[in-house]
Amino acid sequence: MNQSDSERVRSVIENMGYELTEVEEEASLIGIIACSVRQKAIDKVYNRIVKWNRWKAKRPLITFVSGCILPADEEKFIKLFDILFRMNELPELPKLLQQCGVPTEFSARQPDLELHNEDERTDFWKIEPSYSSSFDAFVPIQNGCDKFCSFCAVPYTRGREVSRSSSEILDEVKRLIDRNVKVITLLGQNVNSYGLDKKGEEITFANLLRQIGEIGNQTDKKFWVYFTSPHPRDMTRDVIEAIADYDCLAKQIHLPVQSGDEKLLFRMNRNHSIDDYLKIVDDIRTLLPTATLFTDIIVGFSGETDAQFQNTAGLMEKVMFNMAYIAKYSPRVGARSARWDDDVTPEIKSDRFNTLTDILKQTSKTHNEKMIGQTVTVLVEREDTRCEGALSSRTEGKLLVRIIDAPTDLIGTFQTVKITQAANFSLTGKLV
Ligand code: SF4
Repeated sequence: MNQSDSERVRSVIENMGYELTEVEEEASLIGIIACSVRQKAIDKVYNRIVKWNRWKAKRPLITFVSGCILPADEEKFIKLFDILFRMNELPELPKLLQQCGVPTEFSARQPDLELHNEDERTDFWKIEPSYSSSFDAFVPIQNGCDKFCSFCAVPYTRGREVSRSSSEILDEVKRLIDRNVKVITLLGQNVNSYGLDKKGEEITFANLLRQIGEIGNQTDKKFWVYFTSPHPRDMTRDVIEAIADYDCLAKQIHLPVQSGDEKLLFRMNRNHSIDDYLKIVDDIRTLLPTATLFTDIIVGFSGETDAQFQNTAGLMEKVMFNMAYIAKYSPRVGARSARWDDDVTPEIKSDRFNTLTDILKQTSKTHNEKMIGQTVTVLVEREDTRCEGALSSRTEGKLLVRIIDAPTDLIGTFQTVKITQAANFSLTGKLV
């Protein structure tokens, strides 16, 4: 979400006449789109602004900060940065820069963004982003969260759920397809509660997917559409049915479960049961038999007993995820659980982390080994960092495939590959 937001910030700044520099020391305007998910990221913001404020003593420099910021940090940042804005205030950035002394004729190069404040919480989405990739794009569809999981501070930093208009989303998707973009990821803290805040005046998430699917049916261009992240509570069967009905809707689901224990899920305020989750997994396996399944898990949450952890390990063995992003719990200031004891020791958290990683290695490898000998379509993403002369690519299910001996001009294209080897978290293949 921050990367997507920063593409819009960059667009506003570039429209004012600024040019990008890769060299921090050369910048005359410099800013941060902050993330409050971990304290470490916020600590880095403090380190940077102290450094930049030292530079300001010697040369002209304007600093700004935006993104996910907790109210307590916001109070401190206001004193340290020249400009602090919420992302929905992005259209005001040129005016704020003028107030900091950027000459008017400089700002005059900014085109009319035609923002009329009909809904000032969503106006910033009308800004055409300066996309950072030519073949892989994020499209925000929703911002904020009403779920209030006890370990998470997002509802306090990004505010309540707000959906972007479906016509605007569909226009952006069409523009991206015209530009030959191959991967589109619909973004939101809770993508599948899309539209619910509009109380019947906006289409549902399943219908949004169907309309995108229809766009796919009307073009001969190939592209894959993903979304992240959905919440199990809103993962209705019609969403899975929509994915099954359209080729362009990628058969890959990332469905965070966080814990395999009923009581812990309750303490996390996730508002669904393990049975609910397993029912969704059943629907996915039935309606989308080729789909890969990813998840997020927290180990060592406040009060997690060994027996409760074993339930999570059991769930992982049962569901056999292709990929899981496993995090050791750390309290976040602003989240409800920060008031509870962080009573699982770092050693136990590490042990639990390692146990789940071992299970994941097994289940992922079992899935990967079944692919040996198969011919699959992949999107080539970049030169491989581990294997010289190879390219990194992903299947529709987002499995990493290393293609041996392939030319770099294939980056950004779909290719057909025969899988020759399988490792825990990656595959190797040859161009067909
Ligand atoms: S659903 Fe829970 S974890 Fe996700 S953003 Fe909302 S509060 Fe945070």
